[in-house]
Amino acid sequence: MEKIKMVTPLVEMDGDEMTRVLWQWIKEILIEPFVDLKTEYYDLGLVNRDKTEDKVTSESALATKKYGVAVKCATITPNAQRMTEYNLKSMWKSPNGTIRAMLDGTVFRAPILVDGITPYIPTWKKPIVIARHAYGDIYKAVDGLAGEGKAELVFTDRNGQKTVKTIHEFNSEGAVLAMHNTDKSIKSFARACFNYALDMKLPLWFSSKDTISKVYDGNFKQIFADVYENEYKEKFEKAGIEYMYTLIDDVVARIVRSEGGIVWACKNYDGDVMSDMVATAYGSLAMMTSVLVSPDGVYEYEAAHGTVTRHYYKYIKGEETSTNPVATIFAWSGALRKRGELDNTPELIDFANRLEKATVETIEKGEMTGDLVGLFKKDGVQAKKLNSKDFLKAIATRI
Ligand code: NAP
Ligand code: MG
Repeated sequence: MEKIKMVTPLVEMDGDEMTRVLWQWIKEILIEPFVDLKTEYYDLGLVNRDKTEDKVTSESALATKKYGVAVKCATITPNAQRMTEYNLKSMWKSPNGTIRAMLDGTVFRAPILVDGITPYIPTWKKPIVIARHAYGDIYKAVDGLAGEGKAELVFTDRNGQKTVKTIHEFNSEGAVLAMHNTDKSIKSFARACFNYALDMKLPLWFSSKDTISKVYDGNFKQIFADVYENEYKEKFEKAGIEYMYTLIDDVVARIVRSEGGIVWACKNYDGDVMSDMVATAYGSLAMMTSVLVSPDGVYEYEAAHGTVTRHYYKYIKGEETSTNPVATIFAWSGALRKRGELDNTPELIDFANRLEKATVETIEKGEMTGDLVGLFKKDGVQAKKLNSKDFLKAIATRI
């Protein structure tokens, strides 16, 4: 069989621990036998990040800007314990944070649905995609404890002109918090959400609490409305999808009653909380994909989970592991499909679709990794636990 040719290389970002092991196997068993794989390889494993003083991370982000599509393996974000374990020169920052800042992107997280694994909310038949604004609000806030006295909000403009507002007159102890966001960041976020919704042909819902936070959240609401009106309204109408703004509490109630099939744009804190709720409700973090989309249309695909450290320690002791590779497979298929769309290579798009279909079908026929066995219930099908490699081989037979 002739292998599928690629025009432009994918930016490949290798990673750490168990996912690094799976990464290699996915390539060997599921991709290279079918595709003449072209990648520009960056080793974002912690050893190489330390060796290159983390330059490799920014180089990989620059390459992503250049080529347009990347696929990333999960990576360790160092903490004190990792400093000792890897004898690091410095506590390097989270690679995802670095890449996100360089691409100015928004993260979209979508569950992979399988017949036999029912979400905790059984009416959810289609994916709910959470788009989280990854800048500002309480994540870049200044806060402090207050005693008796007056807390004020002061804005000094470029000419030294001050505007002062009283926050609170304290008669006893308390705390204050000041946070910010920029129109530029909110506009980028809005465009990323509108583009993604168009790409997926899904309606977009955006929520905040502008009835209470009239100026701050009101600004988010207004910017989304303006960007929609000026840049996306016609495209949405043509695609037959809707944009809706509503209050965060209203959208929570609507989401629970919905059957899914929605992109839900969330402010930073809402997205942090709601993405964990949605991921858990769909059954497993190992079945959740994640894509970073920049406002100028650059895509970076990954799994939503980490490096699965506990499984890796078993693996290096020579024990068999049944780590779920599905989200990482979907990161590859997502990146290959996008590459195919941009390069106009239908064979590559078709391969990505077949790879995803084979993966889902394998589980639906009862062959899966250990984490899914307890969640799987389907009439006439008995769930069987496979180790990671056998699971990948079972998928390969169905491509
Ligand atoms: P994790 O790697 O996601 O794993 C947490 C637990 O979830 C695992 O121990 C496992 O549970 C289960 N799990 C996650 N993915 C699974 C899979 N594919 N198959 C089967 N089970 C899976 O999170 P963590 O332990 O908090 O973090 C480990 C490392 O990953 C850290 O160094 C962190 O910095 C990094 N991390 C990276 C990213 C990223 O690169 N995007 C994201 C998050 C964390 P059981 O042990 O019960 O089987
Ligand atoms: Mg969270």
